[in-house]
Amino acid sequence: MGEFATHRDVQLLAIGAGPSNLALAVALDELAPDDVAAESLVIEQAEAVAWQPGLLLPWTTTQVSFLKDLVTLRNPQSRFSFLNFLHSVGRLARVPQMASTRSGRFGV
Ligand SMILES: Cc1cc2nc3c(=O)[nH]c(=O)nc-3n(C[C@H](O)[C@H](O)[C@H](O)COP(=O)(O)OP(=O)(O)OC[C@H]3O[C@@H](n4cnc5c(N)ncnc54)[C@H](O)[C@@H]3O)c2cc1C
Repeated sequence: MGEFATHRDVQLLAIGAGPSNLALAVALDELAPDDVAAESLVIEQAEAVAWQPGLLLPWTTTQVSFLKDLVTLRNPQSRFSFLNFLHSVGRLARVPQMASTRSGRFGV
């Protein structure tokens, strides 16, 4: 991101850093041979990666469970899981008190 290349050979080019290609990037990191992962590139037209910019209103929740994140259903032990993110920022203990597994959209 933020880096402009005029020419670069890649094995895999993913256009757009939305949830689909971020999940692909996680799968490449975890499953692909090292050379394929190293020679893959995700490009994004926006200056920063953002999910639905302008729509993350404080009172809104996601429409699906956070267990359907980029990776958990494929690899619940992934360091890229939403639960691992919550643990890393000290918020995992709140999860058992939640009435729903839908997250606040800001949290995503
Ligand atoms: C209002 C709204 C609410 C939603 N709420 C939920 C929800 O709560 N839970 C849920 O699971 N799903 C929700 N969805 C659906 C979810 O947002 C989409 O399914 C998901 O974002 C699709 O991911 P994607 O990666 O395929 O595409 P996108 O999220 O659209 O990402 C595509 C990315 O590619 C980039 N791009 C496009 N063209 C180019 C190009 N030519 N070159 C470089 N980059 C490019 C874009 O800038 C963008 O970053 C919601 C959708 C909407 C519209």
